[in-house]
Amino acid sequence: MKRNDRLLLNVIPPVINLNLGKEHRSINMKSWMKRGMTLGIALVLMLALTACGSAGTSKDENEPEAQETAEIEQDIYLTLVNKTHALPDGWEDKIQLLDMKNAYDEDIQVEKGSYEAFLALRDDLLKEGVDIELDSCYRSVERQKELWAEFEAEYGLDYCKQYVAVPGYSEHHTGFAVDVCLIKDGELIYENDAMMKETEIWKKVHEKMPEYGFILRYLEGKEDITGYSYEPWHMRYVGDPAIAKEITEKGLTLEEYLGQVDPIPEEGAADVTIDYGASELYSQEDMEKAVDLIKKEFSTWEGCELHSIRFAGDDCNSADNIRWMNELKPGQNYTQCIEFLSDFHSPVEGGGAWEPDQEYKDYQWYLARTDGGDWELVSWGY
Ligand SMILES: [Zn+2]
Repeated sequence: MKRNDRLLLNVIPPVINLNLGKEHRSINMKSWMKRGMTLGIALVLMLALTACGSAGTSKDENEPEAQETAEIEQDIYLTLVNKTHALPDGWEDKIQLLDMKNAYDEDIQVEKGSYEAFLALRDDLLKEGVDIELDSCYRSVERQKELWAEFEAEYGLDYCKQYVAVPGYSEHHTGFAVDVCLIKDGELIYENDAMMKETEIWKKVHEKMPEYGFILRYLEGKEDITGYSYEPWHMRYVGDPAIAKEITEKGLTLEEYLGQVDPIPEEGAADVTIDYGASELYSQEDMEKAVDLIKKEFSTWEGCELHSIRFAGDDCNSADNIRWMNELKPGQNYTQCIEFLSDFHSPVEGGGAWEPDQEYKDYQWYLARTDGGDWELVSWGY
């Protein structure tokens, strides 16, 4: 499908990425406003030319027939992905993603059923003078990694922890999560702070959502269950309006509805921010195994609080490092090496080898493995 056809199909220019800098956004805003004019004209033309203006039923000729007709099981819409439940393997094979533009004219994807439900919700809200637009929707694990890095650079780690999911643990990976922004008096409202102020608008949006199978995912007062601060803009498609209504009427989180409330890791080794970076050498699974060993060692350091672990980069697998690992543990015949950096806080009262109450940065961890063997923690320190 051509880009212009897409825009016509979507009718609306859907939304932003949370990760964009303000500058980037304002540029997009301008192009969005210009586009709004052309789009309006195009829309009128389209409605005049077609008997049925329904966007959701239009077909993409690039998509294989089999995919188009494949029935998606209702159960899949209740898949839980949160800080303690990772995205199931092979996820992208189970869903159908549609390509489209968001409110900033960026290419985005949304799961088919979720998108159709969103369009119906949006149309209904428009009758009440409320205009919601797509912002950030489906995100691949790769994209989430980039997002984390961008957010951390711009807003810092604390903000990241509060608002951004660890790659693999974001509900946006499912394709069923939709972040919306608002158009009010012809202006696009997309920044978190500005959106938070629109309580009257959100009230209307939240009331309508269940009828179309959406729930508000991150509820006020349920932060200890969801692990996230209140987000009025993040809606989650659960497939069946009856289920969405039940969840909403009872004031439940998806975790509670599914009976899968797990303690959200608080302080200590479990609340560690992990950045797997980008690697050509190691899979995330490889890295997770290494990180587990680091966490295990760290958990024995009394009173220390681990904040973050990040992959140091593929360069760490150098001949020099491998030789060094083999010197430290003679007879192992290591062939690969991996390095992580971590930040942690020493015990307030001091103790061990640490200065009391200090933040230690870029502390190094080296692991090595033999051909076909598992990682071993070989060295750590500065
Ligand atoms: Zn979201």
